[in-house]
Amino acid sequence: MSIRLVKGIGPARAASLERLGVRTIADALLLMPRRYEDRRSFTPIGRLHPGEATSVLGRVKAAAAGRTRRGIPYCEVLLDDRSGTLVARWYRQPYLTQTFRPGLQVILTGKLNPYPPRQMVNPEHEVQERDEAQIHAGRIVPVYPLTAGLAQRFLRRILFELAQTVAAKLADPLPESVRSRHRLLPLPDAVRALHIPSELTEVAAARRRLAFDEFFLFSLVVLQQRAARQTHPGIAFQPPGRLAVRAREALSFALTGAQERALGAIWTDMAAARPMQRLLQGDVGSGKTIVAFLAALTAVSDGYQAAIMAPTEILAAQHVDRLGALADPLGIPVVHLSGGMSAAARRQALAVLAGPAPCLAVGTHALLQPDVVFGRLGFVVVDEQHRFGVLQRAALQQKAAHPDVLVMSATPIPRSLALVLYGDLDLCLIDELPPGRRPITTTWVQEAERPGMQAELTARLERGERGYVVCPVVEESAAELKAAVQTAARYRAGPLSRFGVGLVHGRISAAEKLATLAAFREGRIHLLVATTVVEVGVDVPEATVMVIEHADRLGLAQLHQLRGRVGRADRAAQCFVVAERDEIGPESQARLEALIRERDGFALAEADLRLRGPGDFFGTRQAGLDGFHVGDLTADLRLLEEARAEAVTTLQAAPDLDGPWTATQEAMKTRWAARLGLAQVG
Ligand code: ADP
Ligand code: MG
Repeated sequence: MSIRLVKGIGPARAASLERLGVRTIADALLLMPRRYEDRRSFTPIGRLHPGEATSVLGRVKAAAAGRTRRGIPYCEVLLDDRSGTLVARWYRQPYLTQTFRPGLQVILTGKLNPYPPRQMVNPEHEVQERDEAQIHAGRIVPVYPLTAGLAQRFLRRILFELAQTVAAKLADPLPESVRSRHRLLPLPDAVRALHIPSELTEVAAARRRLAFDEFFLFSLVVLQQRAARQTHPGIAFQPPGRLAVRAREALSFALTGAQERALGAIWTDMAAARPMQRLLQGDVGSGKTIVAFLAALTAVSDGYQAAIMAPTEILAAQHVDRLGALADPLGIPVVHLSGGMSAAARRQALAVLAGPAPCLAVGTHALLQPDVVFGRLGFVVVDEQHRFGVLQRAALQQKAAHPDVLVMSATPIPRSLALVLYGDLDLCLIDELPPGRRPITTTWVQEAERPGMQAELTARLERGERGYVVCPVVEESAAELKAAVQTAARYRAGPLSRFGVGLVHGRISAAEKLATLAAFREGRIHLLVATTVVEVGVDVPEATVMVIEHADRLGLAQLHQLRGRVGRADRAAQCFVVAERDEIGPESQARLEALIRERDGFALAEADLRLRGPGDFFGTRQAGLDGFHVGDLTADLRLLEEARAEAVTTLQAAPDLDGPWTATQEAMKTRWAARLGLAQVG
């Protein structure tokens, strides 16, 4: 039922409500108050204590606008409740004088200044009208999120009435069995408690119930999508296949146990006659690439094409190199599709891909162009998947009927969050680094300590090791690029120039970037000044030292990724993060301290989740995370797992969600419609 059916809601208010995600009456009833105020009794003004947060109810005696000595406008009100008088002041809102007409009853919620003068500054305020007294006072009062065109009291009155009249009629998406198993309130009770609680503990129970709903319905949607995908016929590959076997024998190292397990899981999926959808997670440097390459060779052994998509040209070129070393001896072509290739070369590459012959295709999103057509694509790898949008991943997999898909991520995600973001994928994890890796020492360097850092850098270059100097580019602004250019110029003019100094950043042509990187890889230059373009995937094992300038500008995920460029071999590596302690905020300090303390990506991810909350978790802004209005992915992780497990059981018993589950299905549709639109996406 549309919210427009409610008396008093016309097109304008409906539009405002829509901005809060409210379209129907049911949506409105699920609108979560921002907070509650206990207005069962007001504190007499005469008994207010400085510093204490309270609500008072009084009559406006006078209101006036003024300006501070520094010219800041304010509105000041004198309030009286017979026990005493109170001055309240709102800065930068002089127009409030219109609101506080003398004689009106007003509720103020805030703190009395801890020091004289005795006044409240910027308290929350509400004008009390007599006929609605029982809605806005004398009870625990919800305070709703607002948007332009919606007044608090209007919304509160509507929800007060709806909660009394309509809430009882809401269809409950949770059957009694589920509710009792998880000790959850019936939906009508929860909704009533949300808007008309008699105690704050009731609110907590209501919140828990509604958060469970979100998690449960979301899990059902995601799991059903996965089940639907698995009914498509996929390719039953025959792992390992002779090419993968031969490539593996040619490796100079043995796979770690964790790599073996991951490859085993992937091969099991590939052998099954349904499309694989798997996420391979592993910390930076854990060796995901070789696992993906071997799996791709399995597909090629069976006569299919395999495509590997990387987020940057640098990484794609590196994959072409590495993959070439494995595939060339086997006589398998590696087709590189890059943004900057000549028309003729591109035509030739496209012809190979369009043909039936098995091959390996590597590229950036250049692979997604409409004219890239595959003759026999059977296996798709998306490297560093968090760098791609959901739709880009989908586009690649749509280049074949139902290919097996492997997505890889070095952005470690706590398991419970992974269930939310990738709940429709099978997860596997490489939780072990190749042997012989020495831990990276991370040191915080301030300006005054630069000489020591410089000495360490020099000593390492003298020993033949290689180093990075990273200048963060956050906005790709001219100033930021200039910093990188100047840093390179400084090193080139200084004593380290004898080791060869290269520079790569986003505005340098792809060809030049690749040439510089090749020179660095091959040891013709030993110091690489770079922007964050080297953040993902770059693998030069001889690099053992990294300097990150302005480290405070980067997120924890980026810092960890950058640091992962060193310590890729058996030599002790060093990472310097440069930032002035007293010039950066507490949040940046906490980030850098976490980086120094933790070497493990998963531990850092948890720290980041705690520092920033899931909304902008670990440098990613992911679809799915913004769908929860009540559930809090930091605080409610246990509840999430509970709901997810319940969803699994439910679908086992009733895969089509028929019978008692009709209301559930309805709620899935209405509450997760947007997400449903993103169906077949990994
Ligand atoms: P990431 O997981 O970050 O993508 P890579 O796949 O780039 O890591 O691997 C990092 C480095 O470790 C590469 O130089 C790779 O050749 C090497 N490597 C991978 N697996 C092993 C192993 N089992 N033993 C030794 N070195 C390995
Ligand atoms: Mg990688």
